[in-house]
Amino acid sequence: MNATTTPPAPGSLRAYGHYLDGRWTPAPEQGEGIERVAPGSGGRVAARFASGTADDIAAAVHAARRAFDTGPWPRMTGMDRGRVLLRLAALLRTHSEDFARLEAEEVGKPLQLARGDVAGCVEMFEYAAGLAMAARGDVHTNLGEDFTAWTVREPVGVVGMITPWNFPLLQVAQKLPFALGAGCTAVIKPSELTSSTTLELARLAEQAGVPAGVVNVVTGYGKDVGQPLAESGGIDQLSFTGSTTTGRAIITASAAHATRLSLELGGKAASVVFADADLEDALDGVLFGVYFNQGECCVSGARLLIEDGIADDFVARLVDRAGRIRVGDPFDDGTEVGPLISQDHVEKVLGYLSGEILGDARIAVGGSVLNDDAHGSGDYLAPTVVDGVHPDSRLFREEIFGPVLTVTRFRDFEEAMDLANAVEYGLANTVWTKDVDKAIRAARRLRSGRLWINTTIDGSVQLPAGGMGASGYGREMGQAGFDEFTELKSVQLRTGARTPFFRD
Ligand code: NAD
Repeated sequence: MNATTTPPAPGSLRAYGHYLDGRWTPAPEQGEGIERVAPGSGGRVAARFASGTADDIAAAVHAARRAFDTGPWPRMTGMDRGRVLLRLAALLRTHSEDFARLEAEEVGKPLQLARGDVAGCVEMFEYAAGLAMAARGDVHTNLGEDFTAWTVREPVGVVGMITPWNFPLLQVAQKLPFALGAGCTAVIKPSELTSSTTLELARLAEQAGVPAGVVNVVTGYGKDVGQPLAESGGIDQLSFTGSTTTGRAIITASAAHATRLSLELGGKAASVVFADADLEDALDGVLFGVYFNQGECCVSGARLLIEDGIADDFVARLVDRAGRIRVGDPFDDGTEVGPLISQDHVEKVLGYLSGEILGDARIAVGGSVLNDDAHGSGDYLAPTVVDGVHPDSRLFREEIFGPVLTVTRFRDFEEAMDLANAVEYGLANTVWTKDVDKAIRAARRLRSGRLWINTTIDGSVQLPAGGMGASGYGREMGQAGFDEFTELKSVQLRTGARTPFFRD
């Protein structure tokens, strides 16, 4: 591992070891470890990560445990922890372009989106710093004159964090600053596809003054390092973001120690467009909602539910506009949608567009890999609209996680709500209407942790995010995202004379 203070430039092959107890383990040599090919590059290896084992996890958990049990971090004042987080935010801002470029290269997302992600991460650290500084308990003086009681929020302890590949830095930034602010220590296992920015973040944490052992990063495959982390008796909490399938495996793996879990899982959000909506806004919003980040987004508005009366015209315009989206190299200025994360993922998404699953539904635009000179790598999928999708179809119910919009028509408000709620997921939904009364009724009816009205995929660090149903439990960001990494303890003190229970 070189000792640079800025992330290596995209295009140069970077190699990383694990970051354990404030030290870097040797980076893998050529032919070793996990090689990450840049999406859309046609096979260029961009990064090499160490392929960790259960022993690496044990070492990281041991370091984080010691840092929590005997180190300074949990014992510092909230003000002091907050100052370190502010320094880390400032460092991240200084290096934001480098981070955005690494993220764009490894994920394949347009650079302009990656810049937004990094700016969002800076805010996470700043906001969590404020929460750390302001954290306090409550005093209860209304329990009768003989009692005074108080509640305190104590750090949970050692937190395991497992993150996915679609927003690598943002997902870790929705966890780490809040956990650190609360006084916890961390073992982070990033996605094996996109580990660079998490590793670089650990380097900045050290520069900002986070003590050794407080932040540890172990890279590798889910089965090799994710599972041992979930099974570990040395962690107090596991905060996981990823698919519902893996989330279920984690519930099982963590059961032996009854480890506290936060699970941010998959989604299948609806964009509900009523006839009374501002249709220009809705059109752009529906497109943004589904094709943002190549559709590789947990809150992607993958299901369009559209009111009968306007459906044909709206879908025709949507199809025309989707066909003109600029799909291309993440580093080209005009690119709106980049390549998918991997060839395997392209195959998975295409599988949903095959005859067997498609049934009576019709591909109105897209549906195939782009294959011209500019898109020769096989990773670029044309933005796709599938019309006439029945609510029983797997297209409607399962998370495809690609640039695929399904279209289903509804007659009235009740049917729209029933359709939106007809999937096992409950992560997010969007409603487009100018009728305030309808918007408020929809906000009450829809079963999801987040709801947007006349806007979509807007995030704000002040607002908690999380799922219902198969989308998981627990919340990230906001005050709730800080409380998630605390234990709430109540202490009751008697000051007057006590009446004995047992009498002679
Ligand atoms: P994934 O579940 O395949 O992997 C997520 C992480 O878990 C990776 O680091 C992976 O290595 C690890 N992992 C895999 N198997 C494991 C196991 N058996 N034990 C422990 N860890 C294991 O998900 P992905 O493909 O990386 O990401 C896409 C998924 O993430 C989608 O379902 C998406 O909806 C979800 N996601 C959810 C949110 C949210 O906030 N709810 C945000 C982003 C992504």
